[in-house]
Amino acid sequence: MSTSHWKRIVVKVGSALIAPHQQGCSSHYLLGIAQFIATCRAQGCQVVLVSSGSVAAGRHRFPDTAEPSISLKKAMAAAGQADMMATWDKLFDFPSAQLLLTHGDLRDRDRYISIKNTIFTLLDNGLLPIINENDAVTAAKLRVGDNDNLSAMVAAAADADALIICSDVKGLYTKNPNLHEDATLIKQVSEINAEIYAMAGGATSSVGTGGMLTKIEAAEKAISHGIETMIVDGFDADTFNQLLKGQNPGTLFTPYDVPMQEHLHWMMHTSQIQGELIVENDFSADLEEHDTQLTTDDVVAVRGNFSVGDTVLVRKGDGTKLAKAKSNYSSCLLHFIADQEDREFANNAQQKTGPLISDKNIAILEQL
Ligand code: GLU
Repeated sequence: MSTSHWKRIVVKVGSALIAPHQQGCSSHYLLGIAQFIATCRAQGCQVVLVSSGSVAAGRHRFPDTAEPSISLKKAMAAAGQADMMATWDKLFDFPSAQLLLTHGDLRDRDRYISIKNTIFTLLDNGLLPIINENDAVTAAKLRVGDNDNLSAMVAAAADADALIICSDVKGLYTKNPNLHEDATLIKQVSEINAEIYAMAGGATSSVGTGGMLTKIEAAEKAISHGIETMIVDGFDADTFNQLLKGQNPGTLFTPYDVPMQEHLHWMMHTSQIQGELIVENDFSADLEEHDTQLTTDDVVAVRGNFSVGDTVLVRKGDGTKLAKAKSNYSSCLLHFIADQEDREFANNAQQKTGPLISDKNIAILEQL
């Protein structure tokens, strides 16, 4: 890894860094990060910042509650968003721009492309995009839920070379370092598998929503898009000196040699499943092969309500997940075809509509 090779990076900053005492924002830990961002930009590298902190920044405007409700958190986010932006803005001598996103925006392909274009236009005009989830307007289904996953989706949309997740821990440890003295830092991860997820279970920050688990999910999303990902300690000022020297101060996740195609990556990691197509337990056809495409005859049950173009999960009756795919049929049409006594009529309906799923719009799920 070397900062001089990066053309574009995403830096994610967690709530614990921006509002360490949950009493409004503080620039104490942000100075080093801001200097790092300014240096990268001066070296010709474009930077996108994903910043948490609006809930923590707005918290002190409301009566003190240990466990605020979702609606209170949304109000806190609305109250703290401007504060969070102003805190960053003070640290830069170049303009910034705010983008507030929901999962509803990212999972809609047209809106996703529009977000992508806005990010590129801001970068090309020298502005620093500062992105956060639009917590105040989200409904449960439309939440990304944590800024770790959001930062990976943004890194994919921005076609970044690197994603740097600034956290309150040094990186991924073999065990939770808060509980186990013999936990050791893992410097490099070349494959994210069940063992890595098991190591990540548990370590949580009391300020933000993301623990280590969401950071691993984010790293998985990013590396499959060919984006090298690092979890680093944002509290340690030396972290950013090391990064600028091309050293690895935390845990480095190396990217796939052959990244997933852009639209398959979006379907796999950003779009949300709207329904399910269930096939027999002994279904064994290769879904990516043009000649063995899924047909309506293979589908034994349809779950959920979805429209043409929505993302569906293809799975076996026993629960084995096979693929995420874009359905060319609505759930209504599939039920209608399944209910037809007259098979010739059903076959005609299928021939008119074309393949249930096209081989270009299917992302095969690896079985962990
Ligand atoms: N969007 C939330 C905020 O601004 C943060 C979510 C997270 O910490 O991951 O406070």
